[in-house]
Amino acid sequence: MTDRMSISLAHADPEVAAALEQETLRQHEGLEMIASENFVSEAVLEAAGSVFTNKYAEGYPGRRYYGGCEYADIVENLARDRARQLFGGEHINVQPHSGSQANASAYAAVLQPGDTILGLDLSHGGHLTHGHKLSFSGKLYRTTFYHVRRDTETIDYDELEATAEREKPKAIIGGASAYPRLWDFARMRQIAEKVGAYYIFDMAHIAGLVAGGAHPSPVPHTHITTTTTHKTLRGPRAGLIISAAKAGEIDLAREIDKAVFPGQQGGPLMHIIAAKAVAFAEALRPEFHAYAAQIVANAKALAEALQAAGFRLVSGGTDNHLMLVDVFEKGINGAEAETALGKAGITVNKNSIPWDTNPPLKPSGIRIGTPALTTRGMKELQMQQIAAWIAKALERRKDEAALDRIRGEVAELANQFPLYAWRRTPATVSA
Ligand SMILES: *Cc1c(COP(=O)(O)O)cnc(C)c1O
Repeated sequence: MTDRMSISLAHADPEVAAALEQETLRQHEGLEMIASENFVSEAVLEAAGSVFTNKYAEGYPGRRYYGGCEYADIVENLARDRARQLFGGEHINVQPHSGSQANASAYAAVLQPGDTILGLDLSHGGHLTHGHKLSFSGKLYRTTFYHVRRDTETIDYDELEATAEREKPKAIIGGASAYPRLWDFARMRQIAEKVGAYYIFDMAHIAGLVAGGAHPSPVPHTHITTTTTHKTLRGPRAGLIISAAKAGEIDLAREIDKAVFPGQQGGPLMHIIAAKAVAFAEALRPEFHAYAAQIVANAKALAEALQAAGFRLVSGGTDNHLMLVDVFEKGINGAEAETALGKAGITVNKNSIPWDTNPPLKPSGIRIGTPALTTRGMKELQMQQIAAWIAKALERRKDEAALDRIRGEVAELANQFPLYAWRRTPATVSA
């Protein structure tokens, strides 16, 4: 081994090492309530930081375009087999670098540029890749949208059906980044069948709940299911595609594999695929069921406590891991709320609420999720405490001293739920 290879990060690059230490400390001391974030295990981190990052493995197991892929094949096959055990589905592709790339590949497998897609409007909880004009999906395809109802703030399936009949989309996209309720997968499939569309469901946010049995699975209802692996599923930052082997005459498995590589990507990230294999094995264990159930229990407890404190929740509550709080009803905009909570050590994000009358940069809501805190071991009791801090921080949002006091209390709670065993203590970092 050359000298170059044995130098630790701290010596090789003190600037990056310092930022990494500060980020580690930030993750330990704050309350991470961004609904799309989580903390992977040390085993997942180890695989993600492994020498598989050195390996080119274009192609698929058993048919690669590079030599030396025997171990890459082992980890990719493990990841595929475990994903199939977790989610079912006849075909699995574990190569997408991200959720967005999983969607790009799923669309490319069954659509031509110019074809029509029908997705949930971004401002009603949908994702950029479901047809937004700034995303590839809105540039490549003709887009139409469905919405939530004004009264219930839940998906308007009647509107979805009417739009599908009028616009004749080639694919109907389900799934969301900010939707707190269950989906009617069967009804969506029925509508897709009626208009001759593919049904693609993007379960990025809820995949961990599905894997852990705390949420119904879209997989039996869809032609293609896509997901990220780093949200509730608690794996490395990446994507995954699950599908039927065939759709009518179409060889879906082949079309999806071709769409991922060489369609969207070159060499797969083998270190990340190794980390996916590890995460999927974790998700197959019984403890993961308890984790998934606790995420939902925590979200319910937090939602009830916030409602008791006088906050209005979009759709009146939650069935999953997240909730949308209408802070504008209390005269606060989402950006102000995000900043105040940030100062109090609670990380959330501003978010539009359905039929929002305020602009996206100053929307009416915030989105709060429980997956990351559940991973740290927090339960209903902590959720009640956190709801009280949220209410107080929003009320005293202009009082820096009050926010600072809450931040101290938050750090104390966080310290009772340590994250990684190897974390540096604050004293070590500042020394
Ligand atoms: C997070 C998310 C994605 C995108 O994932 P990236 O890995 O950030 O590209 C796609 N769809 C939905 C519904 C999401 O919530």
